[in-house]
Amino acid sequence: MNFNTPKFDAAVTSFKALCPGHPQLFQYGQFYVTRRTIDDLFGTITVELQNNLRLSINPPELNGAINFFKTKLSGRVMNIPLASINTMLDVMDPVYGGMAPIRALFVAGKNDRANAQSDFDAVWSTPDIPAAPALSGSAPTLAKAQAAYQLERDKCFYVLRAFAKKLLKKRGVGPLPQAAIISDMLVGGAFLKDAAPARGTETGRQEIGYGAPNLLAAATARMRAAINADGYIHCGVLSGAMHENSKFPQPEHHVMVFAHDTVGGRDAFLFWDPDAAHSEIASTNWGQGFGVLFSRAGRLTTAVDDADFAAVDRHSAADTFGDHTNDPLRHCYQVYTLQTLPMRAALKLHVKVLQPPARASVDDMLFNAVAVYASRDIEILEASREIIDTAGTELEKFQTLYVGDDPAGAPTAEVTELHSMLRADGGESGVEPVANEIVVAFVRTLVPAGFASASHPPEQPGAVLSASLAGEWALAHEIGHLAGLEHSADANDLMFKSTAGIVEASPALRDDEVATVLASPLAQV
Ligand SMILES: [Zn+2]
Repeated sequence: MNFNTPKFDAAVTSFKALCPGHPQLFQYGQFYVTRRTIDDLFGTITVELQNNLRLSINPPELNGAINFFKTKLSGRVMNIPLASINTMLDVMDPVYGGMAPIRALFVAGKNDRANAQSDFDAVWSTPDIPAAPALSGSAPTLAKAQAAYQLERDKCFYVLRAFAKKLLKKRGVGPLPQAAIISDMLVGGAFLKDAAPARGTETGRQEIGYGAPNLLAAATARMRAAINADGYIHCGVLSGAMHENSKFPQPEHHVMVFAHDTVGGRDAFLFWDPDAAHSEIASTNWGQGFGVLFSRAGRLTTAVDDADFAAVDRHSAADTFGDHTNDPLRHCYQVYTLQTLPMRAALKLHVKVLQPPARASVDDMLFNAVAVYASRDIEILEASREIIDTAGTELEKFQTLYVGDDPAGAPTAEVTELHSMLRADGGESGVEPVANEIVVAFVRTLVPAGFASASHPPEQPGAVLSASLAGEWALAHEIGHLAGLEHSADANDLMFKSTAGIVEASPALRDDEVATVLASPLAQV
């Protein structure tokens, strides 16, 4: 299969041209800070070695030392062999001297995670495309790179949306015409099915089925319309052979379609993958980050044909796990949610979990909130999440929180104090919410007993939710209050006065409510 059609080549070239001088954005994607830190770590070591007087007069030994570090720092960041690096430094120090600055780069510090978070925000929380990688204020230590990896591994959704915003802004793309907007939380009646059991050393295999293949075909027609209107399509996918954490219908991974063409007679969509190292088509010169989806035979997947779809590596210990075996740099993806970008407006959310909710998980509540607002082309973006162990801390007293008798009234002193503390610094997440961003906190109990309260101090939009009572629609409902919505008497509405009484599987936002949300100071365009 020749993926290099003139149209796809041109689309990749113009995609890259949006980031002049800064290819790391699309080459490193969601692992930007991890890989940039390793680059900087190796660069710093190289300079130290070159400046070592005794080593620099012996070029073969200098090159040998540089190559040693280059080899050790390649490969998976969590597997970098610290012991053998320290052994080498022990050998080199008596011979050449001056190894202390290099040694310091392999010592963990207490700010590793905060330093990684700060670099992450510097690149992704701004609206523009940085002209080149910014200099980080912190040392490029191995521990910082590893902390960055732990932080970034779950950031495919966020990085996709943040990067899309930058690219769309630079291209000057406004809201899409109604006929091109897609917000399908389960495209074509998608469902998850077990397709093959585990066998020998191979894992089982799951596939996405489509109960309504005609709706899938209609959705791909809209994808083409969205691309023709200069938009992108955010695709939620099943990645590899298995749905590892079984949170279906919440997508396992996310990729962004930005062009379409016909490849080998097949309807094809070109995408960028935030997990860039997993999408590379060896036969093209596009490099890391780019892949192709095929829409055919009631499927929307990276498989070229049935044989390609069947031949996926199921050895979970292999580096190629989940890749198409006939072109092992291509990871297998099957699409089941679609969302066109840009959306009309975005509301940003910071989630603080003082007590994990019992009746529905934070992920479930967030997924519902994203879905119900997305159905009206409004984006809910979780900018940070912090899980806080309050035992023995000054936050412990808020676990039983007095919220007052009037939900529409002024916040109680306790609520005001909690919101101020949660905003005071970014806490563990390191992300400090700005004035028009929402802070939502889950605490053990509200007094008097209730699901939630959206009363908050002025200029500090936020809500508190009861971890024991809040259900799957509570978060979406409270976001509505914060954006200016009042209660509805209709049990089909998201803003029905009791979220526990909502009868619809996907409650509605009325047209006038959508207008109110869009006019709210929380709605960022
Ligand atoms: Zn309410």
